[in-house]
Amino acid sequence: MPIEIRQFPCFQDNYGYLVRDVASGAVAAIDSPEPERINAELAAAGWKLTHIFNTHHHWDHAGGNLALKTKWGCEIVAPADEATIIPGVDHQVREGDVVRLGESSAVVVETPGHTVGHVVYRFADDGAAFVGDTLFALGCGRLFEGEPEQMWSSLSKLAALPNETVVYCAHEYTESNARFALSLGEENPALDARANEVFEKRRAGEWTVPTSIGVELETNPFLRADKQSMRGALKMRDAPAAAVFAEIRRRKDAF
Ligand code: ZN
Ligand code: FE
Repeated sequence: MPIEIRQFPCFQDNYGYLVRDVASGAVAAIDSPEPERINAELAAAGWKLTHIFNTHHHWDHAGGNLALKTKWGCEIVAPADEATIIPGVDHQVREGDVVRLGESSAVVVETPGHTVGHVVYRFADDGAAFVGDTLFALGCGRLFEGEPEQMWSSLSKLAALPNETVVYCAHEYTESNARFALSLGEENPALDARANEVFEKRRAGEWTVPTSIGVELETNPFLRADKQSMRGALKMRDAPAAAVFAEIRRRKDAF
């Protein structure tokens, strides 16, 4: 069954998302940044919150759980590996679990790296993936709790989704990600074109999220660690992809 998605900025650079199952009217917040903003969006749409799907435990993703649960009595779905540190969890989920939202459903994809338990919610029938802080437009999450090999394998799972999958990231980091991507010196006309587009959009105050798996595969340096053009630019022609990824992440942390 179809879903409707409402996207709205929270804090400095987060995006909040509300997903509504059209058939039943059930509504899930993807994470709980700024409960006041989420409540304002619900009011504007005339929607009632029934669920929260948490991607990971960071405060800008789970910090509003209890305020929303108190107001709405909503059910909170969260990664099993972070259930003890996420407030108000009702259902713990793992790789491959199917989470129902009315007549729609999302499949859970475990993507450890940014945090140990990070998960992505993929509404396969609707071609939408809510990726939290794992994948960003032209970027990826910092490795606060995981190792590069782990994050590379998490990103590889997302890279294997259909190209047309629409990717809803939790932050608007694209402009600085574009500057970093260009700094690597990979010969990639698709990246040059996209970076210009991103700079123009941001100048005009427009959002660059959502993106798609296809666009990220062509331009996101973190998904290109297995490409010869990227290996060449970094002088790592014979290195395994995970090592190239680790080098790109190391450079980004210092950028
Ligand atoms: Zn985070
Ligand atoms: Fe975050």
